[in-house]
Amino acid sequence: MLPRMAPRFREIADGVHLGALLPAGLLHTVLLEGPDGDVVVDAGLPWSGRRLAALLRGRDVAEHAVTHAHGDHVGASAWLCRHTGARLAMGEADASRFEDGRIDTHAGAFGRVVLGSLARERRPVDRRLREGDRVAGFEVLTVPGHSPGTLALWRADDRVLVVGDGPVNVSTDPAAPRWLPLPRGLHHDPAGADASRRRLGALSPALVVAMHGFPVTATHRWAEAAGAHVPRRPGRA
Ligand SMILES: [Zn+2]
Repeated sequence: MLPRMAPRFREIADGVHLGALLPAGLLHTVLLEGPDGDVVVDAGLPWSGRRLAALLRGRDVAEHAVTHAHGDHVGASAWLCRHTGARLAMGEADASRFEDGRIDTHAGAFGRVVLGSLARERRPVDRRLREGDRVAGFEVLTVPGHSPGTLALWRADDRVLVVGDGPVNVSTDPAAPRWLPLPRGLHHDPAGADASRRRLGALSPALVVAMHGFPVTATHRWAEAAGAHVPRRPGRA
């Protein structure tokens, strides 16, 4: 019998590594190489630990940063911090909810009942992140709506944007995205989520890396899907 290939990170921008969690293509974790050590962004579902352990073998993780405290992003966060000794960083408006095990920030019942129940394991948050804080050389942007404390990470030098949720691209070709529509009830505040996504689209990123779906380089299309009005260059399809 052939040995199964261990999951590996794939470097998709300078010091930005994408790791596939399961279900494949729909859930990822991201590792950022920062000046103060490696940072793991989001930790998937409660049963993602085994895969995270394989991805992170040989890595020294200094911090685990969370884009938002929903069960499919923090399901294995407590495990990850225990396993690696990393400190936990998260948006200040989600931190107390995570610590108390109150993941009630979905407008719809499916999110509240199903996704909320995936985030029950608690631990203290070591760093409460705010707009303008730094994570592995990225700037923290507070983009509330999907949850009250949702964050995005932005590196202006090469215009790389890391988001937790956003338009979900199911195409493996980053230049030709295809979107998976999701119910708006997964947001805490759908109108707020729209406004935050417009803000991110207006940054004109060169690469968008999301925890759901595949990276996108056709970012004018990402911005359109996110609801941002971006000026098109004449003649562009
Ligand atoms: Zn999610």
